[in-house]
Amino acid sequence: MPTAPAASLCAFLAAVLLLTSCTTPAPSPLSPETSVITRWQGDKIGAVSLTFDDGIITQFTVARPILDSLGLLATFYIITGKVEGSERGKFIGRDPELIIAETARTPTDSTNFFERASLIAFTGTTEAITYHSDAGARYEAGQIAKAHRLIDEAYAKLRAGTLRNTDDVVFHDNPVDTTTWDDYRAYQTAGHEIASHTVTHPRLAVLDAPNLRYELEQSRADIAKFLGEPATFSAEGPYGTEDERVMEFAHRVYPALRNRMPAPYLAELNRGSRVAPGSVRQEYVQWQRGPTDNTSLQAMKDWVDTTLAHDNIWLVEVLHGVDDYGWAARPAAELREYFAYIKEREDRLWIAPFATVTKYIRERENSRVEERRSEDEITVHVRCTLDPAVYNVPLTLRTVVPEGWTSVQVKRSNDADAGSPLQVVRDGEGPDYVRYAVMPGERVILVGR
Ligand SMILES: [Zn+2]
Repeated sequence: MPTAPAASLCAFLAAVLLLTSCTTPAPSPLSPETSVITRWQGDKIGAVSLTFDDGIITQFTVARPILDSLGLLATFYIITGKVEGSERGKFIGRDPELIIAETARTPTDSTNFFERASLIAFTGTTEAITYHSDAGARYEAGQIAKAHRLIDEAYAKLRAGTLRNTDDVVFHDNPVDTTTWDDYRAYQTAGHEIASHTVTHPRLAVLDAPNLRYELEQSRADIAKFLGEPATFSAEGPYGTEDERVMEFAHRVYPALRNRMPAPYLAELNRGSRVAPGSVRQEYVQWQRGPTDNTSLQAMKDWVDTTLAHDNIWLVEVLHGVDDYGWAARPAAELREYFAYIKEREDRLWIAPFATVTKYIRERENSRVEERRSEDEITVHVRCTLDPAVYNVPLTLRTVVPEGWTSVQVKRSNDADAGSPLQVVRDGEGPDYVRYAVMPGERVILVGR
């Protein structure tokens, strides 16, 4: 037993320790003589990316004009194999007749499952696609035996002639689509992100290696050919798959996947997650939400409000059907109201395509700001370790300026026209500062007045 004074000394030391740990702060972003890259571009308090999957025609003929009228940019993950001029979807492998004949003799097991699950998607009917998709869903849910049984059932029907075997490619949720690469180029020129959602929208987790590679690499090649290399930055594997084998391969083809992109500074809550994003302490929380048929407009607005109630949430909206086409279709009038609701909050929300936000976050996490001050000048250099040809999204900097400065001229080494001076921000609490844009790697001089 400690004596009473010793006990109180312990309590005192504990209190000091507690006090020390509580008051040892993370560096305040507005401590004097500091430049910081703000968490979101424009020093907003949250971000929203509107993403559309499956390249459904009404996304372009109905939703896109609404977005354009509001000045909002979105991401469209398209199925490249159905666009005129691209490489079509196809089965890569042994003679299909041989594989089909084998199914009569050898039940499906782990040695032949991927090959058979790959081929069944190319036997020309919607029912065969459903078997492919259902087997994939079972497989990803860990119900392997059930997945094998579904494949056996599908091939039994194929052999009996109940399913026709043709080489028609049946595309996911796209009964009618006339969108061309010229159309996509025009949408891209307007600022939207057009990116890959594979060649045919398969269950990637149950494809064998050659077919997995084709779906990811051929789609990338067609996007690069028709829209340019920059459009190959992000992609989405169908059905939101997070299958390990698929993710490992896909990350070698695309730098960013909406499915998953592990980073210590980024928590990812997928569409099925019930975790409250506000309870997550990481620097960034990518919070995916997607309306189903039962989701109310109010619930969707609540996602936006939740994003605004914190400072680290990136709301990634996953949208599908519009009007009468596609999965979980939302009427145009409702989308108009929802997008307007987001737009009205743009003073606090950064609204940008998926690739743009991803790049900003990575740039910020891989940059260091160096600063040199004299009496009337501050030199600021953003050193970034990433490839400047790819990571080209402007960062927003906040630099504390000396008392007495009222405006600041930004001098850029590569820019003869320095632009109009920045007004010094005085928010009453912290020190005075200016807010401005800098490219990764850029060095600027702030001249005070
Ligand atoms: Zn999809």
